[in-house]
Amino acid sequence: SINSQCPLMRDDLGRASWSLLHTMAAYYPMKPKEEEQQSMSEFICSFSKLFPCPECRTDFQEEISKSPPDLSSRLGLSTWMCNQHNIVNKKLGKPEFDCRQVLERWKDGPADGRCD
Ligand code: FAD
Repeated sequence: SINSQCPLMRDDLGRASWSLLHTMAAYYPMKPKEEEQQSMSEFICSFSKLFPCPECRTDFQEEISKSPPDLSSRLGLSTWMCNQHNIVNKKLGKPEFDCRQVLERWKDGPADGRCD
Protein backbone atom coordinates (compact mmCIF):
# COMPACT_ATOMS: atom_id res chain seq x y z
CA SER A 1 0.00 0.00 0.00
CA ILE A 2 1.07 3.59 -0.61
CA ASN A 3 2.92 5.37 2.18
CA SER A 4 1.66 8.87 1.53
CA GLN A 5 4.93 10.38 2.73
CA CYS A 6 7.08 8.60 0.16
CA PRO A 7 7.73 9.13 -3.57
CA LEU A 8 5.65 6.85 -5.82
CA MET A 9 7.08 3.63 -7.24
CA ARG A 10 6.12 2.69 -10.77
CA ASP A 11 3.08 0.55 -9.93
CA ASP A 12 1.63 3.15 -7.54
CA LEU A 13 2.22 5.87 -10.09
CA GLY A 14 0.59 3.69 -12.76
CA ARG A 15 -2.50 3.01 -10.63
CA ALA A 16 -2.86 6.67 -9.68
CA SER A 17 -2.38 7.73 -13.30
CA TRP A 18 -4.91 5.29 -14.75
CA SER A 19 -7.38 6.48 -12.09
CA LEU A 20 -6.96 10.06 -13.31
CA LEU A 21 -7.02 9.14 -17.02
CA HIS A 22 -10.14 6.94 -16.79
CA THR A 23 -11.93 9.43 -14.53
CA MET A 24 -11.18 12.30 -16.91
CA ALA A 25 -12.52 10.21 -19.79
CA ALA A 26 -15.63 9.23 -17.78
CA TYR A 27 -16.43 12.90 -17.11
CA TYR A 28 -15.51 14.14 -20.59
CA PRO A 29 -18.61 15.70 -22.22
CA MET A 30 -21.01 13.43 -24.10
CA LYS A 31 -21.03 16.08 -26.84
CA PRO A 32 -17.69 17.88 -26.54
CA LYS A 33 -17.21 21.28 -28.10
CA GLU A 34 -14.35 21.77 -30.55
CA GLU A 35 -12.36 23.53 -27.82
CA GLU A 36 -12.88 20.67 -25.34
CA GLN A 37 -11.74 18.16 -27.94
CA GLN A 38 -8.63 20.27 -28.56
CA SER A 39 -7.84 20.52 -24.84
CA MET A 40 -8.20 16.76 -24.32
CA SER A 41 -6.03 16.09 -27.35
CA GLU A 42 -3.31 18.37 -25.97
CA PHE A 43 -3.59 16.86 -22.48
CA ILE A 44 -3.12 13.29 -23.75
CA CYS A 45 -0.28 14.37 -26.02
CA SER A 46 1.50 16.23 -23.19
CA PHE A 47 0.90 13.36 -20.75
CA SER A 48 2.47 10.91 -23.21
CA LYS A 49 5.57 13.10 -23.49
CA LEU A 50 6.02 13.83 -19.78
CA PHE A 51 4.82 10.71 -17.90
CA PRO A 52 7.75 9.94 -15.59
CA CYS A 53 8.39 6.35 -16.78
CA PRO A 54 10.45 6.39 -19.98
CA GLU A 55 9.52 2.87 -21.15
CA CYS A 56 5.83 3.48 -20.46
CA ARG A 57 5.65 6.78 -22.31
CA THR A 58 7.60 5.59 -25.35
CA ASP A 59 5.18 2.71 -25.85
CA PHE A 60 2.16 4.91 -25.09
CA GLN A 61 3.28 7.47 -27.71
CA GLU A 62 3.64 4.69 -30.26
CA GLU A 63 0.13 3.35 -29.51
CA ILE A 64 -1.31 6.88 -29.80
CA SER A 65 0.23 7.31 -33.22
CA LYS A 66 -1.22 3.93 -34.33
CA SER A 67 -4.65 4.71 -32.85
CA PRO A 68 -5.29 8.39 -32.01
CA PRO A 69 -7.72 9.19 -29.16
CA ASP A 70 -11.43 9.15 -30.03
CA LEU A 71 -12.35 12.67 -28.94
CA SER A 72 -15.89 12.57 -30.35
CA SER A 73 -17.75 11.61 -27.14
CA ARG A 74 -17.52 10.41 -23.52
CA LEU A 75 -18.13 6.79 -24.50
CA GLY A 76 -15.69 7.03 -27.40
CA LEU A 77 -12.89 8.43 -25.26
CA SER A 78 -13.59 6.08 -22.33
CA THR A 79 -13.49 3.09 -24.66
CA TRP A 80 -10.28 4.33 -26.30
CA MET A 81 -8.64 4.77 -22.88
CA CYS A 82 -9.82 1.32 -21.81
CA ASN A 83 -8.32 -0.20 -24.96
CA GLN A 84 -5.03 1.59 -24.27
CA HIS A 85 -4.99 0.25 -20.72
CA ASN A 86 -5.71 -3.24 -22.06
CA ILE A 87 -2.69 -2.98 -24.36
CA VAL A 88 -0.53 -2.34 -21.27
CA ASN A 89 -2.34 -5.09 -19.32
CA LYS A 90 -1.51 -7.55 -22.09
CA LYS A 91 2.13 -6.44 -22.17
CA LEU A 92 2.37 -6.99 -18.39
CA GLY A 93 0.46 -10.30 -18.37
CA LYS A 94 -2.50 -8.78 -16.47
CA PRO A 95 -6.10 -9.76 -17.26
CA GLU A 96 -8.03 -7.90 -19.94
CA PHE A 97 -10.76 -5.55 -18.70
CA ASP A 98 -14.22 -5.68 -20.35
CA CYS A 99 -14.54 -2.20 -21.83
CA ARG A 100 -18.36 -2.37 -21.80
CA GLN A 101 -17.99 -1.91 -18.00
CA VAL A 102 -15.75 1.15 -18.15
CA LEU A 103 -18.33 3.80 -17.15
CA GLU A 104 -19.66 1.59 -14.37
CA ARG A 105 -16.10 1.18 -13.04
CA TRP A 106 -15.04 4.83 -13.31
CA LYS A 107 -18.23 6.93 -13.13
CA ASP A 108 -21.53 5.30 -12.13
CA GLY A 109 -20.42 2.54 -9.76
CA PRO A 110 -22.03 -0.91 -9.48
CA ALA A 111 -25.83 -1.24 -9.61
CA ASP A 112 -25.99 -2.70 -6.08
CA GLY A 113 -25.01 0.70 -4.67
CA ARG A 114 -22.03 -0.56 -2.66
CA CYS A 115 -19.97 2.45 -3.78
CA ASP A 116 -22.66 5.07 -3.07
P1 FAD B 1 -3.70 -1.03 -12.94
O1 FAD B 1 -3.32 -1.61 -14.25
O2 FAD B 1 -2.97 0.21 -12.49
O3 FAD B 1 -5.26 -0.74 -12.96
C1 FAD B 1 -5.93 -0.08 -11.89
C2 FAD B 1 -7.39 -0.46 -11.92
O4 FAD B 1 -7.96 -0.05 -13.17
C3 FAD B 1 -7.67 -1.95 -11.87
O5 FAD B 1 -7.73 -2.42 -10.57
C4 FAD B 1 -9.02 -2.08 -12.59
O6 FAD B 1 -10.09 -1.85 -11.69
C5 FAD B 1 -9.00 -0.95 -13.58
N1 FAD B 1 -8.67 -1.39 -14.94
C6 FAD B 1 -7.82 -2.36 -15.34
N2 FAD B 1 -7.76 -2.43 -16.67
C7 FAD B 1 -8.59 -1.46 -17.13
C8 FAD B 1 -8.97 -1.05 -18.42
N3 FAD B 1 -8.48 -1.62 -19.52
N4 FAD B 1 -9.84 -0.03 -18.54
C9 FAD B 1 -10.37 0.56 -17.43
N5 FAD B 1 -10.05 0.22 -16.18
C10 FAD B 1 -9.17 -0.79 -16.03
N6 FAD B 1 3.94 -0.45 -16.11
C11 FAD B 1 4.97 -1.17 -16.56
O7 FAD B 1 5.55 -1.96 -15.79
N7 FAD B 1 5.40 -1.08 -17.87
C12 FAD B 1 4.81 -0.23 -18.76
O8 FAD B 1 5.22 -0.13 -19.91
C13 FAD B 1 3.72 0.57 -18.30
N8 FAD B 1 3.11 1.46 -19.12
C14 FAD B 1 2.14 2.29 -18.62
C15 FAD B 1 1.59 3.27 -19.44
C16 FAD B 1 0.66 4.16 -18.94
C17 FAD B 1 0.10 5.21 -19.87
C18 FAD B 1 0.26 4.10 -17.58
C19 FAD B 1 -0.71 5.10 -17.03
C20 FAD B 1 0.80 3.12 -16.76
C21 FAD B 1 1.73 2.19 -17.26
N9 FAD B 1 2.28 1.20 -16.44
C22 FAD B 1 3.31 0.43 -16.93
C23 FAD B 1 1.72 0.90 -15.11
C24 FAD B 1 0.75 -0.30 -15.18
O9 FAD B 1 -0.22 -0.13 -16.22
C25 FAD B 1 -0.06 -0.49 -13.88
O10 FAD B 1 -0.64 0.75 -13.49
C26 FAD B 1 0.77 -1.03 -12.71
O11 FAD B 1 1.42 -2.22 -13.11
C27 FAD B 1 -0.14 -1.33 -11.48
O12 FAD B 1 -1.07 -2.31 -11.89
P2 FAD B 1 -2.34 -2.76 -11.07
O13 FAD B 1 -2.42 -4.24 -11.23
O14 FAD B 1 -2.32 -2.19 -9.72
O15 FAD B 1 -3.62 -2.14 -11.83
